[in-house]
Amino acid sequence: MPYQVCQLAAEVTPFAKTGGLGDVVSGLSGFLARDGHDVRIFLPFYAQIARRAEPFMPVDFVRDVPVAIGPRHYTFSLLTTPLPGSDVPVYFVDCPELFAHDGLYHGDWLDWLRFAVLTRAAFESCQRMGWGPDVVHCHDWHTALAPILLKALYGWDRLFDHTRSVLTIHNLAYQGYVPASVVSDLGLGSHVHWLDAADLATGRFNFLKTGILHADFLTAVSRTFAREIQTPEDGFGLDPLLRARGDRLVGIVNGVDYGEWDPETDPHLFYHYSAREPAGKWSCKRNLLRETGLDERTAAPLIGVVSRLTPQKGFDLCFEVLPELLARRDLRLVALGSGEKVYEDFFQGLQERFPGKAWFFKGFNNELAHRIEAGADLFLMPSKFEPCGLNQMYSLKYGTPPIVHKTGGLADTVELFDSATGQGTGFVFDHFVPVGLRWALDYALDTYLHRSTWEKLMANGMAQDFSWDKQGKEYVELYGRMVG
Ligand code: ADP
Repeated sequence: MPYQVCQLAAEVTPFAKTGGLGDVVSGLSGFLARDGHDVRIFLPFYAQIARRAEPFMPVDFVRDVPVAIGPRHYTFSLLTTPLPGSDVPVYFVDCPELFAHDGLYHGDWLDWLRFAVLTRAAFESCQRMGWGPDVVHCHDWHTALAPILLKALYGWDRLFDHTRSVLTIHNLAYQGYVPASVVSDLGLGSHVHWLDAADLATGRFNFLKTGILHADFLTAVSRTFAREIQTPEDGFGLDPLLRARGDRLVGIVNGVDYGEWDPETDPHLFYHYSAREPAGKWSCKRNLLRETGLDERTAAPLIGVVSRLTPQKGFDLCFEVLPELLARRDLRLVALGSGEKVYEDFFQGLQERFPGKAWFFKGFNNELAHRIEAGADLFLMPSKFEPCGLNQMYSLKYGTPPIVHKTGGLADTVELFDSATGQGTGFVFDHFVPVGLRWALDYALDTYLHRSTWEKLMANGMAQDFSWDKQGKEYVELYGRMVG
């Protein structure tokens, strides 16, 4: 049965992306459309989107719509263009007062207001379009107010009589804490008693927690992550609530958009390759070494890193391990990322200390990310915790075995390679300690020396299928449970 699905998110690739969230929203939506569902996405019209080349068409009946958040009055209009490569309409909430600044997240206290307006604007637009979706699918804290707003502010409208809500948790570390005084601006009226009173008594209101309380269903972006967040160690304070809602919490591993991430067709690569014809990978490697100015007259393995540089990503382990490894073994390291200064300084320091062997690019660069996935021999992703992770799945497809910590989605998608049996897809260490990472790196570098074993390992990874066509079916099943 085809479903009508309204996606609500702060990021949608290629319009706005800082991490995996944007990839998931666009990949899942593209799949749903191919599978015959009516899916529509709502996203802020950020300044960076206005500068893109697509024609953004005004939506006639959604112009200058007023939205009040407490004493603050805004008007928004809707613009639309299809999600590239599909006929999924993306509706952009154009409210210059809130979204005309650079960047998606400002980290200031007004972020909550921006996303509250996005969420309200989506419902207001649905009403004006006469579209009552079967499912409102919201993502992370930014749009986690949707379930309660659906019931409290729009419950009167018969249009939404059959609408159910699902909240996908991509990251539990960001919860959207705001002062409790904000609540009076949300217009919840008598429904205020649906909020967590104990929380409000502490003077704080938590967007994500509110979504977890009120969504009809919850999903987490991998099975292991769904289990982990119900434990005190990894629950970020929300584990009691997540355990209480455990019967409505489903873990679904993210899909990968192989239209975007396939070494056979990747437009960002100068050479292409596949499991059948892997030779182009070595050209990609030579090219990457040349591009980064590293010493290319070598058969040494090349380790790649592409990451947000935050404590989550586990690079604290590298402080001790990587300098020692670079001094001890012949290898090359190419790292791309930005974030907290301590990690940027660390990778910058490696480049200075090991010229010709280590290279770091500080920033966000999608083309380079693709060329690192293709050109590296190994991909390093030692995340402390990782709800799902996409880069390890890209790496598998690109014949670049990942070195990962056994956590969240990394545990679900990478299988420890066993050189005796030739089974497995990467190098997985169990405990988040330097010695664990050092063991995995040494095991990987030793395995690299055995050509035929390595080729088997690469082939195992390249044969994995994490496509949306496969993973997306689990969401459709869930929508069926919700709507049915
Ligand atoms: P997270 O969402 O926690 O950042 P994921 O592995 O799920 O981690 O997704 C990260 C996505 O962002 C990948 O598509 C990755 O290629 C991309 N990415 C991260 N940092 C950079 C960067 N500095 N430059 C280009 N792409 C990046």
